[in-house]
Parts: sequence; C-alpha cells; structure tokens
Amino acid sequence: MIRVSITSMVLVLVCTSAGIVVLLWLLSEWLRSRREARLRRRAKKCPLCFFEFLTAAPLPQAPCPRCDAPTE
Ligand SMILES: [Zn+2]
Repeated sequence: MIRVSITSMVLVLVCTSAGIVVLLWLLSEWLRSRREARLRRRAKKCPLCFFEFLTAAPLPQAPCPRCDAPTE
C-alpha cells in the first residue's frame, strides 16, 4: 500500500484542479478569439456615414445598408 500524507494529497488535488481551470480558461480564450476573428472578417464600416454593419458572407465590396455606398 502506498503511504501518502494528507498534505501531499491536498497539494496534488489543488494543483490538478488549478491545472484543469487554467486549461479550460485557455481553451475558452482560444475559442473566443476565433469567434471574434470570424466576426471581424464580416464587419464592414462605411467610409461615408461611418455606419458599422455585418455582412452575411465575407464579401470584398458589400454596399452600406444605410447609404448604399460601396465599402472596401
Ligand atoms: Zn453608409
């Protein structure tokens, strides 16, 4: 039988829990950055009226829904 002190058992438990929390945090940050990059590709800003909008697909020249001016 393996003899383990209560201190080392608590230390292993705390370190494992902290590691799981850090891994979940890194995973959520990675997923959030991917989601924001996807939205940023679809985001357009009109050069005339400065209206910001999202397009359905990443089109190079989507017209502004407010003033119908082409965007870059
Ligand atoms: Zn506009």
